[in-house]
Amino acid sequence: MKIITTINELQQTMKVHKKSQQTIGFVPTMGFLHEGHLKLMQEARSQNEIMIISIFVNPLQFGENEDFDSYPRNMERDSQLAKEAGADYIFAPSVNEMYKDEPSVTVKVEKRTDVLCGKSRAGHFDGVATVLTKLFNLVGPDRAYFGMKDAQQVAVVSGLISDFRFPVELVPIQTVREEDGLAKSSRNVYLSAEERKQAPHLYKALQTGREMMLKGEKSAETVIESVTSYLSAHTDGVIDYVEIYSYPELKALAELKGEVILAIAVKFTKARLIDNITIDLNDNE
Ligand code: AMP
Repeated sequence: MKIITTINELQQTMKVHKKSQQTIGFVPTMGFLHEGHLKLMQEARSQNEIMIISIFVNPLQFGENEDFDSYPRNMERDSQLAKEAGADYIFAPSVNEMYKDEPSVTVKVEKRTDVLCGKSRAGHFDGVATVLTKLFNLVGPDRAYFGMKDAQQVAVVSGLISDFRFPVELVPIQTVREEDGLAKSSRNVYLSAEERKQAPHLYKALQTGREMMLKGEKSAETVIESVTSYLSAHTDGVIDYVEIYSYPELKALAELKGEVILAIAVKFTKARLIDNITIDLNDNE
């Protein structure tokens, strides 16, 4: 496995693989790898001849009061894990390598960002779309792997790929969880011992919502109220949002039907956790 830090070397390396018509699977990450990332890498490894991951904490997708500086980083451990997962390359550029000067062009996402994390993190998805446009262009992957833990990101990236006609297949991967249900996340290390005990209630709250919907509840408001009161009763975190939309369009639903997403965000002292479930209510008419 090779660690590449410059854009020039990345372009030259990928050119060779493209010339020999090898398929390229790409896993974009911000590092501090965990089993969620490993699942994406396993899929990418099994479906492509070349597997490359990027490790880049992208400043463009962090707001002013967010955790860019304190975001956990550990390149040594990450390279060991990526190697074990069978990565051929890690692309790990510095911020200066990716954005030498102020960018002269950025990408602005017009749809699917006025809700969920897009609403509370202004500019976040523009930053995600800008870095992915650059990375897709540099890597030229056949397939790119994204986790459903960030379901809104999957919806936005799907729009990016189809609008710009990137010749990339988006492969969504189900959320990998701890045994107690907590979705794996690089930010979990910032939970206090007490918060770590409460954190599995996020997934339990989602499951209570799922049960209501599967039993036939048609009102999003009723499900949201019930999930919100479950979260308030079982965690000390500040609820950022509990929302339900159609998926992947992320439109409000007068009546719960079709493919829906129930998503939550809770702010603990040092970590803001998100989680979601998508449910197909088509057979539940
Ligand atoms: P990040 O490093 O947090 O930007 O995540 C990189 C990729 O890994 C994104 O596509 C995430 O959605 C995905 N990912 C993060 N956590 C999980 C998880 N628990 N299960 C599956 N995928 C995940």
